[in-house]
Amino acid sequence: MIDKREFYIDGAWMAPKEGRDHAVVDPATEEPFATISLGGQADTDAAVAAARAALPGWMATPPAERIAAVERLAAAYQERTEDLAQAMSREMGAPIDLARKSQAMAGAFHLKNFIRAAKDFAWEAPLGDHAPNDRIIHEAVGVCALITPWNWPMNQITLKVGAAAVAGNTMVLKPSEESPLSAMIFAECIEAAGFPEGVFNLVNGDGAGVGSQLSAHPDVDMVSFTGSTRAGRLISIAAADTLKRVHLELGGKGANLIFSDADDKAVKRGVLHMMQNTGQSCNAPSRMMVEAGIYDRVVEEAAEVAGKVTVGPSSEEGRHIGPVVNRTQWDKIQGLIQTGIDEGARLVAGGPGLPEGVNKGYYVRPTVFADVTPEMTIAQEEIFGPVLSIMRFEDEAEALRIANDTPYGLTNYVQTQDGARRNRLARGLRSGMVEMNGESRGPGSPFGGMKMSGNGREGGPWGIHDFVEVKAVAGWDPEAA
Ligand code: NAD
Repeated sequence: MIDKREFYIDGAWMAPKEGRDHAVVDPATEEPFATISLGGQADTDAAVAAARAALPGWMATPPAERIAAVERLAAAYQERTEDLAQAMSREMGAPIDLARKSQAMAGAFHLKNFIRAAKDFAWEAPLGDHAPNDRIIHEAVGVCALITPWNWPMNQITLKVGAAAVAGNTMVLKPSEESPLSAMIFAECIEAAGFPEGVFNLVNGDGAGVGSQLSAHPDVDMVSFTGSTRAGRLISIAAADTLKRVHLELGGKGANLIFSDADDKAVKRGVLHMMQNTGQSCNAPSRMMVEAGIYDRVVEEAAEVAGKVTVGPSSEEGRHIGPVVNRTQWDKIQGLIQTGIDEGARLVAGGPGLPEGVNKGYYVRPTVFADVTPEMTIAQEEIFGPVLSIMRFEDEAEALRIANDTPYGLTNYVQTQDGARRNRLARGLRSGMVEMNGESRGPGSPFGGMKMSGNGREGGPWGIHDFVEVKAVAGWDPEAA
């Protein structure tokens, strides 16, 4: 059993002041393999105090030196890539190839993009030629609480830490209690990079404990949260008394609009994207919406593609999908698959229960429902598992209406060769991101949602903007330093 009970506070690993043991379970075997501590108020207070004490020095450190620290962090991270991939694979179940190529690489990618964006960022700039004595200064928000989920652990942590650090904030990270081990390796990278004491602190804990304590803490200036809409609401309520800035990246229910002139690979791409990371991505294209004329053919192809998706252990190399993260998620997904059947959706691949030949591990059968209608639960709720819902539309207007008919607004997808239609839909879809014809967004593109998918943007210059205050100064001497 791995023992990882310590927290990283004020530049040192220390024993919890009021920790409770928590077992980290391997979702592929259902066996506990590590023990961490869930901290209490005294641990939260110690970490916040360390971050508060480090704030004046870090804020006053010139951006070039802060960027250099993040460059050292990126180098340290690179050296630990294999350790990070192994830890994520074991704690949250990503197959090792996915953990290496996507989960771990995402962190390196975001750090690199922040370094570039920070070098180009206008930390201080004139308002304009019309107002020569005006100056706009971007400075740190202050002490930031960073609360992250388990589904893309390093992706989320680097999106927050990279931006917060270059902008001069100090921080307390509370990673998900489901994926704490990769976060602790990340803290070791911070240590190796020689960050000043107290700039970055890590306290493990659960939502009801350290998560809520950070959200309500009078000495925390901002909470940056990625996770469920449920927790986002509770954090907003807990933060209200102190009126701190609350930055939210929440769930999604992405539509993937497939028109009759979509490219040949569109259906396969959509199904595999849904299944990636065992469906545990906030931007998953979970509603495949298909134009009536090609509907039957698409349903058949989608079922066939899903039928070929294999399920297997996270420790094994290959392109299979792994287990879902824990028993609670497994039960929730099974409940939603049953609800889909009960509400009249047509099951064309997968279904309830464990995959054939599996009797241990939180594995889910890659599942596809056809004839899903907008009022069905599986068309509205985020399932967060390998379950695709296929819906039919008659024309573009109906497609847009159904796509927008959800409380979420994170990512939507469009597949058509008609450029004018793509551009119309890109403008009409109510989501923070629209990805079309299989093209990914470029490096440094802002990630985030509208409506109940949240209010923040992460990555590149937009990610830095979310971690700064804008100070407007009049009477500035443009000749002086
Ligand atoms: P979760 O909300 O249960 O937990 C996320 C984090 O919040 C964990 O660290 C948890 O301990 C903490 N937390 C839980 N309750 C809290 C509370 N009351 N106060 C403070 N902290 C609390 O979510 P999860 O199950 O870990 O992650 C899955 C969810 O995250 C999905 O809904 C998914 O769509 C969403 N997600 C969103 C994005 C995005 O950028 N929009 C990215 C990844 C995941």
